[in-house]
Amino acid sequence: MTPRSYELLIDGRWTKARSGETIERVSPAHGVTVSTYSKASEHEADLAISAARAAFDRGSWPRMSGSERSKVLLNVASLIERDAELLAMLDTLESGKPIAQARGEIAGAADIWRYAAALTRDLHGESFSTIGPHKLGVVVRDPIGVVSIITPWNFPFLIVSQKLPFALAAGCTAVVKPSELTSASTLYLGKLLLEAGLPAGVVNILSGKGLDVGAVMTSDPRVDMISFTGSTRVGKSAMATAAQTLKKVSMELGGKNPQIIFADADLEAALDAAVFGAYFNAGECCNAGSRLIIQRSIAESFVADLQRKVRDVKVGDPLDEDVRVGAIVTPEHLAKIEGYVADAQEAGAEVKVGGTRLDYESGQFMAPTIVDGVKPQMTIAREEVFGPVLSVLTFETAEEAVVIANGTDYGLSAGVWSRDFNTCLNVSRGIHAGTVWMNTFMDGASELPFGGYKQSGLGRELGRRAVDDYTEEKTLHMHHGPRTAWWVTNPAGQA
Ligand code: NAD
Repeated sequence: MTPRSYELLIDGRWTKARSGETIERVSPAHGVTVSTYSKASEHEADLAISAARAAFDRGSWPRMSGSERSKVLLNVASLIERDAELLAMLDTLESGKPIAQARGEIAGAADIWRYAAALTRDLHGESFSTIGPHKLGVVVRDPIGVVSIITPWNFPFLIVSQKLPFALAAGCTAVVKPSELTSASTLYLGKLLLEAGLPAGVVNILSGKGLDVGAVMTSDPRVDMISFTGSTRVGKSAMATAAQTLKKVSMELGGKNPQIIFADADLEAALDAAVFGAYFNAGECCNAGSRLIIQRSIAESFVADLQRKVRDVKVGDPLDEDVRVGAIVTPEHLAKIEGYVADAQEAGAEVKVGGTRLDYESGQFMAPTIVDGVKPQMTIAREEVFGPVLSVLTFETAEEAVVIANGTDYGLSAGVWSRDFNTCLNVSRGIHAGTVWMNTFMDGASELPFGGYKQSGLGRELGRRAVDDYTEEKTLHMHHGPRTAWWVTNPAGQA
């Protein structure tokens, strides 16, 4: 396989990093180099921010009508669909995710670009005509300015598409930094943006490391907002840096999401969703349903069924259409996952299935794993493992289930399974999480806001108000007619 080479997109031109350094990405499944990117450093970050700033302060994009902007976003959506197969292949080769799944993500991303295009034309503020005679208040929404967009490796194309189209819809300009492990599809998006008619400098894309490029993108005073998706640890540090210049921040961070199964649930459906929730994207997913909380009366039989079901999950070459679980992103990450399993065993939990890496192709695969007998205070029940590892806990009453569900620092999402609608609603309303699925899991729609409570993040993406997030509100307070409240000659200030 010949690796594809990528340069940096700065001010509408493909540019090599001044240092001449590159980053090589090896396919986690196949062990061969699939991409080489030019490696940006502080110098290129500075150039990219200058270009985005100039495009915002003097360029046409923030000044265009919503209708004109929406045409460009619709073009991008069509180009994503045209090149969907290539984009899916880039994400599969770099992340190790199954190709069939990657195709779904690219289709989902195109849908988000279309949704954002529609919102472009609906961006509006408010008016107040009841604030007094001869007074009118109008609140307009201005684009916030230059946005630094920083994304992780687990859903490379989908996550940039949850941010960039809304920032563009608002009239912002951007500097985008994908993960250094999976930059290809985002760099390829740069080509599509130019083809779609986006003016030079509006979007600049840098492949590079967080410690240098990311640090400039979060500290430079010319940047107005940070839109970050990644780990809670790095999110906190990016936020601390951004606080020095009081930038607005939007944070999509980690999760330790519970799926609560009541005895009266449709257990066949719950079983499939439990397996899907835990092993989709090899568990390398912020929304992974990594804590299965089962009502005690059915726990033993449910876990036995789960063991059988898990053995049917096809693990292997992500280019195989039928594979459900592909490779783990890096050897270091695989070792970290194994460490969590070993730690759980030491703490008294029992591995029912899996627990080991698979000696297959690159050797960078992990068997889908069930860890039973997990207690809420164990590390494996509290920290994000980010691998195909399901922890099983049990509960007696609905109240207890809610306490266990809420017993982590995270609050991204949760699932509740019961045929009793009252149980579903009561439990869902007690859970501290940005999304609660009832009798389904990890469903998504561009129309529905997504984001976390507690240390899972700040702000929401997607949904009707997604564009508003990239705006500042400006109040225009007007008086019409002759002045009515004279200050110098009428100290009582009567109107
Ligand atoms: P990460 O936090 O290690 O890296 C995320 C991005 O931040 C990368 O582009 C990285 O280069 C950059 N970065 C690193 N150090 C930086 C710094 N000091 N300043 C600025 N940027 C810096 O996360 P990851 O390992 O790539 O992704 C996995 C994490 O992402 C998991 O915790 C997962 O839960 C989270 N995630 C959250 C969501 C969500 O929507 N809530 C979605 C996907 C992934």
